[in-house]
Amino acid sequence: MKCYCVTQFHEPLQMLEQQKPVPTGAQVLLKTRAAGVCHSDLHIWEGGYDLGHGKRLSITDRGIELPITMGHEVVGTAVSLGPNATAVELGKNYLVFPWLGCGQCSVCQSGRENYCAKPRSIGVYQNGGYADHILVPDSRYLLDIGDLNPAQIAPIACSGLTTFSAIKKLDPAIYQQSPIVIMGAGGLGLMCLQILKAMGGSGAIMVDIDPAKLKAAKEAGALATVNGTDPDALAQILKANGNQAIPAVIDLVGSTQSTELGFNALIKGGTLVIVGFFGGAAPWSLAFIPMKAISILGNYTGSLGELKELLALVKSGQVKPIEVSEHPLSEASNVLAALGAGKVIGRAVLVD
Ligand SMILES: [Zn+2]
Ligand SMILES: [Zn+2]
Repeated sequence: MKCYCVTQFHEPLQMLEQQKPVPTGAQVLLKTRAAGVCHSDLHIWEGGYDLGHGKRLSITDRGIELPITMGHEVVGTAVSLGPNATAVELGKNYLVFPWLGCGQCSVCQSGRENYCAKPRSIGVYQNGGYADHILVPDSRYLLDIGDLNPAQIAPIACSGLTTFSAIKKLDPAIYQQSPIVIMGAGGLGLMCLQILKAMGGSGAIMVDIDPAKLKAAKEAGALATVNGTDPDALAQILKANGNQAIPAVIDLVGSTQSTELGFNALIKGGTLVIVGFFGGAAPWSLAFIPMKAISILGNYTGSLGELKELLALVKSGQVKPIEVSEHPLSEASNVLAALGAGKVIGRAVLVD
C-alpha cells in the first residue's frame, strides 16, 4: 500500500510502499476514502511546538517515531476484518475515532481515552490516513456514517470533535443567551460556528487576521467579524456585542495575541477556552485572573462518546457541512505546505 510519510522533519512527505496489514483480533482494515489535513499535522511535520519563554516541546520527546503516516481525520470503507471485530460490515463507510489511549488505565476506562497519559492516537503515534489503507486497532473505534459524504465527514473526528468538546465546556445558558467570540476563522472556526448554532447558540463574533477567512466567516453566518490586527480590535468586538464585554471566548488559535485579545474581551466571571496551540507565552497579568474571576480552560480533542453524540447531530442535518476542498492523496505533501502557508480556506481533505 502507498503511504505518504514524514521521514524527516520539515522535509516533503515521502511516498513509501508498505505491506498491507492483515487484521488480527478486533482490528479492521479500511480503504481510505478521505483524510483531512489538519493544523496539528503541521506541528508533527515541523517536529515540535513553541512553548514560549524560548522553550520548545519536541515531538520526539513526546514519543513519536519516524517514519510516521499522519492523518487523524479519516473515513474509510471496511475491506478486511479481524476475527473478533464486531458491528462492522464489509463495504460500509466508517469514521475513525483517532484519539486512542492505552485502553487500560482509569482515565481510559472512564471513557476519556483522549486524556490518557499514554496516548496512541491514530495519525500521531500510529499510522494514519495519508495512505490508501489504514489499520484501526479495534472495531469499537469505528462509527457508521451511512451514505454521508466521506470528505465532509472526515474533519469531524478532529476539528468537529474538538470544537464540540470546547463548546460543551461552557454552560449552555451562556451561549444560548449571548453571543460568544470565536478566535480563528479557518476550518476549525467555521466548524465551531456551525456546531454552536446546532447546539442552540445565539451566534458568534469571529476574529481572524486574514480578510479572506473573515469573509468566509461572514458568509457562514458570523454575527460580526473583526480583524485581530486592527488597533481597535477590542473596541470592535465589544461594539458588535452592544458595547458589552463577552461571557465566553473560544480561542482556536492560542497565540499570545489571540489569548490577550480574548482575555481582555471577557466579562467578570467569563470563560476563556483555549483550543489552539499556535504557541507563545501567556501575556496577561496574573492578578487579573482573580480580579476578573476568569476561568481559563484547555481543551484537547474529545472523547469517543462525544464523537458519537456529534455524529448523531450531523446525521440529524442540524450541522451545515463546511466548505471542503478535495485533493488527490498523492498531493498530500503540497496540501500540507499550502496549509502551512495559510493558503487553505475551509478544510483540505485528501481523497483516494
Ligand atoms: Zn489510558
Ligand atoms: Zn487535527
